[in-house]
Amino acid sequence: MEKIDLSSLTLESLTEAVQAFGLPSFRGGQIYRWLARGVSSFDEMSDLSKDLREKLNQTCTLATVEQAACSRSSDGTKKYLFRLADGNHVETVLMRYEHGNSVCISSQVGCNMGCRFCASTLKGRVRNLTAGEMLAQITYINRTDPVSHVVVMGVGEPLDNYDNLVTFIRNLTSPKGFGMSQRHISVSTCGLVPKIDRLAAENLQITLSVSLHAPDNETRNLLMPINRTYPVEELLAACDRYLAATGRRISYEYIMINGVNDTPDHARLLARRLKGKLAHVNLIPMNHVDERDFQPSTPDRIRRFSSLLSEQGINVTCRRKLGKDIDASCGQLRARFEREHKN
Ligand code: SAH
Repeated sequence: MEKIDLSSLTLESLTEAVQAFGLPSFRGGQIYRWLARGVSSFDEMSDLSKDLREKLNQTCTLATVEQAACSRSSDGTKKYLFRLADGNHVETVLMRYEHGNSVCISSQVGCNMGCRFCASTLKGRVRNLTAGEMLAQITYINRTDPVSHVVVMGVGEPLDNYDNLVTFIRNLTSPKGFGMSQRHISVSTCGLVPKIDRLAAENLQITLSVSLHAPDNETRNLLMPINRTYPVEELLAACDRYLAATGRRISYEYIMINGVNDTPDHARLLARRLKGKLAHVNLIPMNHVDERDFQPSTPDRIRRFSSLLSEQGINVTCRRKLGKDIDASCGQLRARFEREHKN
């Protein structure tokens, strides 16, 4: 019989599962609290009897991550490479800000979206992460560095793993679980329009980050294959619906690629598209990826682009680069690890 992964269930389903074993429902709440504290086995759940722990070991599992590597940057950023139970690896990054520690988690092993500048998608998607595996990346780090914010911006397209993502967010934010504020969570997407609409209806106060990277279909088609399915106009309309449903300002991510999406014309069109919307544009100097042929924009071009946006009243910031010295961006650590450990 296949074991049930208790760490990937909501509190309600977890409670039903323990009741089905003939246990009282409060056991569900006890196990749920332990999972939020990042235990890696039932044996650590010290308020359960030995008999019960034995029974759980025989019938159930819980997701764990094991540290395969960790690099530290001089700015305090830490990048973890975690091994999952089936031997796959994911990357997770801890960043330190004045407002607290923020963890960037992965949502899939690999990615199917095929963005042309991205290292995570080079070999496609291997599998989705479970809700428990997403939470475990946070609870592992939380044992040494208290985590107050989470961004789902690591490897993978979170909205391509929709149900597990939403269960994970509910468990992360449940006052009976980890108890993180919904407002401290950002989910980043390349723009899966029907899933943005579903997310808008979940009644969550999380921030939606949209990887826009170009204001026109010609440029965006070149960079992101998903744009052929959901072009810029449809994506921006879905973002307007998300804002109307949740009241949450949309954050638009824009990586700066030299000579490709960073001209004054791109800036002016972007400003026209976003004018009057409750929006924030985050300019990100592209990280060079060996396997890809794009180059990062020069600082001058980034400054020019940024001023053209602010002149038009667009709220714009330029992302500070953390963890530069440790391959801290998407997919790079996993790719390097796999190169070094192949055979
Ligand atoms: N699939 C989701 C989340 C993961 S990617 C998404 O597309 O938003 C997280 C962010 O990193 C995205 O904005 C993505 O476009 C960006 N990114 C990918 N490769 C990059 C690179 N080489 N340099 C800078 N940012 C990159």
